[in-house]
Amino acid sequence: MKIEKKHFKPYIFILLFLLVPLLFFQVVKKILNKDKYEETRVISQLVEDAENTIPANNIEANTASFGIVIHGGAGNIVKDNIPQELEVAFKTKLFEAIQTGKSMLDNGDSAIYIIEAVIHILEDSPLFNAGKGAVFTHDGKNELDASIMDGRNKNAGAVSGVTIIKNPISAALAVMQKSEHVLLSGSGANKFAKSVGLEMVNPNYFYTEKRWNNLQNAIKRQNESKHGTVGCVVLDKNGNLAAGTSTGGMTNKKYGRIGDSPIIGAGTFADNNTCAISSTGHGEYFIRYSVAYDISARMKYKNQELKTAASSVISELKEVGGSGGVIGIDKNGNICMEFNTKGMFRAYYTNKCEPKVLMYKD
Ligand code: ASP
Repeated sequence: MKIEKKHFKPYIFILLFLLVPLLFFQVVKKILNKDKYEETRVISQLVEDAENTIPANNIEANTASFGIVIHGGAGNIVKDNIPQELEVAFKTKLFEAIQTGKSMLDNGDSAIYIIEAVIHILEDSPLFNAGKGAVFTHDGKNELDASIMDGRNKNAGAVSGVTIIKNPISAALAVMQKSEHVLLSGSGANKFAKSVGLEMVNPNYFYTEKRWNNLQNAIKRQNESKHGTVGCVVLDKNGNLAAGTSTGGMTNKKYGRIGDSPIIGAGTFADNNTCAISSTGHGEYFIRYSVAYDISARMKYKNQELKTAASSVISELKEVGGSGGVIGIDKNGNICMEFNTKGMFRAYYTNKCEPKVLMYKD
């Protein structure tokens, strides 16, 4: 049977009428989704990479000529406690921080400024117990501590109990560079930071609902959250070591309590002859056992390697009841990330490896 050409015409017209808008709609959808897809792909890759990474405690001596290690606190960090979206959020922020450190290091920037820039990223994120997102004191306030040390000359600066300085690590750096002191506290430190032109904020800036609820739970003795301090250690291209640490301290702290984070030798230490260390954990123990300095001293006086010194200090600390961890890098670019808790937010990069982000014991 012969179908006449003219009978086709209306059907072709109807088909085109339906198909053209459909195609147009698909193209627009693809363009709009491209960014979203890219973002999801990058994050999934990140999570996958982190999961396939070498367990932190098995990292071989990784002699490198420059490198960086960061932490975002140690504690009861186990996969079952952390929803997938939160895990992705933590890893994404740690990745952003380590990437910033990587580009500054590759660029030849100096260790001390890399520490400041990287800690800013973590202080500005509400995910960590430092800067925005700091924990609350018993009286419902945020009192922040930070310290920084330059391994070239053992210069150091620190602030404790500050309440209106947006980035306490910059205040610590200013104390080191622009004052004749090492540690300034409370309202005096706030005043000093203002006088050197640092960004000041209303105390409400530090409020986050999660930390407020942590305080209410801690007061009721439930579910106290102890992790989230941030730290960074760097060996730069010129062979200089530096370390920095920033924290809100411990939830429910009272009477102007100060932990280890602003204490040189406990929370932070750097010496170009040995290593750079940043600590996190139950501060009272880290102060009593001079944890950061003890690791450096074991290297200096007992000729121990960084990993041996750090892992013995952290396991001895556990025996006396002190929970927490440290990150370190030595003058030869060997790194360590030791903790006696279930997990520690951490990331590292050296010129011998790609950036890696980790959270759990693995
Ligand atoms: N070490 C900090 C302090 O005791 C807290 C922490 O690292 O989680 O203040």
